[in-house]
Amino acid sequence: MAEPAPVIVCLTHTGAALAARFATAMGASVHGRAGRTQGATIPDVTFEETTAHLRDLFAAGVPVIGLCAAGILIRAIAPLIADKHREPLVIAVAEDGSAVVPLLGGHRGANRMASQIAAILGVAPAVTTAGDLSLGVALDDPPPGWRLTNPQDAGTVSAALLAGASATLQKPPDFLAPLSAHPNITTTSTGDAVTLAVASGETLTYQPTDLVLGVGCARHCPPGELAELVSNTLKKHELSAARVAAVASLDLKADETAVLDLAEDLGLTARFFSAAELEAEAPRLATPSKVVFAEVGCHGVAEGAALATAGTDAQLIVTKQKSANATVAVAQAPTSLTTLPGRPRGQVSLIGLGPGRGDWRTPEASRLIARADELVGYGFYIDLVGPLARGKPRADFPLGGEEDRCRYALEQAGTGKHVALICSGDAGIYAMGALVYELLDRGDLSDAARRVEVVTAPGITAMQAAAARIGAPLGHDFCAISLSDLLTPRKDVEKRILAAAQGDFVTAFYNPVSQRRRALFVQAIDTFRQHRPDGTPVLIARSLGRPDEALTIRNIEEISVDDVDMMTVVIVGSSQSRRVGVGGRDRLFTPRGYAAKHQETAP
Ligand code: SAH
Repeated sequence: MAEPAPVIVCLTHTGAALAARFATAMGASVHGRAGRTQGATIPDVTFEETTAHLRDLFAAGVPVIGLCAAGILIRAIAPLIADKHREPLVIAVAEDGSAVVPLLGGHRGANRMASQIAAILGVAPAVTTAGDLSLGVALDDPPPGWRLTNPQDAGTVSAALLAGASATLQKPPDFLAPLSAHPNITTTSTGDAVTLAVASGETLTYQPTDLVLGVGCARHCPPGELAELVSNTLKKHELSAARVAAVASLDLKADETAVLDLAEDLGLTARFFSAAELEAEAPRLATPSKVVFAEVGCHGVAEGAALATAGTDAQLIVTKQKSANATVAVAQAPTSLTTLPGRPRGQVSLIGLGPGRGDWRTPEASRLIARADELVGYGFYIDLVGPLARGKPRADFPLGGEEDRCRYALEQAGTGKHVALICSGDAGIYAMGALVYELLDRGDLSDAARRVEVVTAPGITAMQAAAARIGAPLGHDFCAISLSDLLTPRKDVEKRILAAAQGDFVTAFYNPVSQRRRALFVQAIDTFRQHRPDGTPVLIARSLGRPDEALTIRNIEEISVDDVDMMTVVIVGSSQSRRVGVGGRDRLFTPRGYAAKHQETAP
């Protein structure tokens, strides 16, 4: 899964010119206000409305560098600020390049990123977090390749140093170098880890992430067994878990709970390799096994995976250790591991965009889109995603061909990618969610595709949007029927229409007509007329959440097939559904029945 790259948001030509000075170095894309930023530098993406765009990016978890007043950024994202551990970084940069201010996420990288930008612009970053200011370094935010073993103590140590405590620092790596300049800190170099000790007794220990845990296990190995084997092994060899950069295994284990849980519990990424890739490590294995080779096609899983991940210069420092159902081995790289070979477990995220409006899309859906490596869907829906989709690889499929879309998404995810399958409304309602599960159930997919993770971000479905627009027609029992007979035998559709009509359900008709199918809608309305009084209200809602949105209420006896098209959802009321004028507008609701109950008990 890709961490989203930062986006530089600029509002003017001056801003766009400034963005060009550091965008490449930061690996950032440039988003510019439409019509105002197309000067010498052309933005990657343009947007119309600054506040809405900033909110979309923030909600999607994209780090934002705004070339504008800090106030503009603060006002835009203020309503969304909730969780300091998960929110993206936000940095304000003055348009003339004179100030770089990390606003949010200081200790999760914003201070570091701000310092990089400031260095390029030749100014000092306006860091406002106390520790960094006096110490010149965020003790709880080591750069990639280093891990703090006891982050819970960072605050105490930082406070002690700020209060003037003296300290010794062993073997300072570059990121701690600013501390050496501090008058009351002495540095010494011994040992492997880096320890910062303050006079009052507290210490902080930083470890280079130079180890890889290679693991193997039998199918359905109890997660606790593998976790225990790993923790005992690390303890026995006096290896700190903070040094581990990744958990690695054979690709057949990409859906093995014990392996996935282990990685998650250690807060690490899991990497997977094919049997052929692991077999390439055969000459380096300490305990090659013919039995394992006969079973999975390589002479060792745990040792091979550890070595393959840690690289050609790595050494096996713990050979294969075994429990009843699991194995573990540890490889050490000569330096910290920051880029990892192999593949992560692939993921398909089923995204419901809602009917179309940006603010009807959940932040979770936006976040998954921003993190996706590839977007798959009907081209029109991917276009609805807007700026978050630009620059991402996308596979557009025509209307129809849904199975091809789902198969493609699963197979791409099988290669280790995070693929977002884009649907309108909700992905589980007359959309691709069920098809993905059907394919997984049928199993005619590659082995890798069958092992991917599937997650779903719920969306607002058409009937909910229609209901919200017109009042509360779904206030009592309701059902939905798709009139598409492409995948459902017509007689089954007819049976359900009759049952819904007889059951007095409020009924939402999806896919009311197609280019070649109109008669079924006429028939459905006729059936309902036999079970509803004249005057029963019917809502015809077209293009909800899109510029040509239109809602019409008609009595059931006035409905014509010409009122509906493929972009329409139709909600037929129950015998209880009523119209009401609210603020001069026609509204529709279905009472929940309290009024009737009240009358029954009244004298
Ligand atoms: N997954 C979608 C439904 C897809 S089926 C959802 O949950 O909404 C396609 C049908 O959905 C259309 O024929 C129409 O009946 C309805 N629909 C989808 N989007 C709509 C919109 N924006 N306005 C009105 N109806 C819509």
